[in-house]
Formats: sequence, C-alpha cells, structure tokens
Amino acid sequence: MRRRDRFTDEELQSARLLVVEYDTNATVFAGPMMGTTYDMSDACPRCGAGARQTSAIFIDGEFLPRLEGRRAATTSHDDVLVDEKLAAALAQSGATGLSFRDVFAAFEERGFRIPWRQLCAAHTMPPMSPRSTGIEVSEPCPCGRSCFGGKEEIPFRLAYRAADLADIHDVNVTWEWYGIAGFTGDLSASVLPYPLFLVTPKVRRIFQAAGVTGFDWIPIRVVDG
Ligand SMILES: [Zn+2]
Repeated sequence: MRRRDRFTDEELQSARLLVVEYDTNATVFAGPMMGTTYDMSDACPRCGAGARQTSAIFIDGEFLPRLEGRRAATTSHDDVLVDEKLAAALAQSGATGLSFRDVFAAFEERGFRIPWRQLCAAHTMPPMSPRSTGIEVSEPCPCGRSCFGGKEEIPFRLAYRAADLADIHDVNVTWEWYGIAGFTGDLSASVLPYPLFLVTPKVRRIFQAAGVTGFDWIPIRVVDG
C-alpha cells in the first residue's frame, strides 16, 4: 500500500495546484493501441515522451461498464474523461487552459462516440523542483523526461519554485512523463508514457459539485530551490 499524506479541506482549497490522482476502479484502457493518433515529430524517439494527441480519444469498448454511474474517469494513460454535463460545467466556469476532445468506444469492427469528453490541458509546467518527494526514475531514458513513477515508502509530493507558477492555468500538465514507456516505433503496438494533471482548487470544486468521488487531490509544495 502506497504511503500518502492526508490534507485538510483548507489545505486543498488554498493550494496553488493539486495533482489529480485517479481512482483505478474507473480506469479504462485507451491510447495508441486502440486507434488514438499522435504526432510524434517532437516526441522522444526512444520513449515517446512529448507525443501530441491529434485525434479523438479511443477507449477499449470492453471497458465501457466501468463508466456506468460515474461522471469522471481516467484512462490507462491518465487522460481525464468527464461526462458531457461535467464538461459543460467546466467550460462555463471560465476555467482557463482547457479544451475538450470527443471520446469513442472502440470495438473490433467499429467504434462509436459516447457522451463523454476528454479534458485536455494547453499548458505544460516547467520541470519540477528536485525537492519533489516520493518519485523514482526507473531505467531513465536519455531524454530525461520519462520513466517517472511513485516510490512506495515516501508520500508523493511535487514541488515547484514560485517562478514556475507564473504562467499556470486552471488545468496544466507536468513536463515529466510517468508510467511505462513502451514506444516501439509503431504506435499501434506501443504504450506511451503520460504527464500528470495539475489543476487549481477551482477545478476540484467543480468536480466535487458534480458529485465526483474516488479522485485524490495532492497539493504541490512551493519551494525556494
Ligand atoms: Zn525519452
């Protein structure tokens, strides 16, 4: 069991940014193997970090039951999916730095659009402070941008310098990419790493008002170095 800090509502409300941690019970398989397309021209050729999604997101249709009764979920690549009503609430809230893409359920023969939207972030954060904790890099790629993961025994906290926060929006992604990097050169047979989502307390409030449960919100630390 991963160690984690617990935060008061006041700490969560006053944080500059919150890492969105996902409910693994609501994770659906997605990514390039399901037909989602990516532009790899600025991505690392070894690990795939920096892949830019260029299509609607395709999720494995076999996982559709996991979305039943939920308003938000995530994919195997930590993409954030919200139902259309929650997407509309986010769009109408004036929250900045976000856009939406369509979500398709893919089956062997065909796919069809479902009444969900993928939440996308326009802004990538600068690299995190080395004072971040609870992170380890397994088999680092020479690009230095991928293969980040959690360390079991130390609570996970991302740290940023105050200057790193100058250009933040309500929805952002990390410069670092997490998870397994299995870019083979052939996207249809690859598992890509992914950045983490960092949102403001405003976004958390909108999720909470929609009755979304099962997500964890971890405040960043603002540090000097
Ligand atoms: Zn790389």
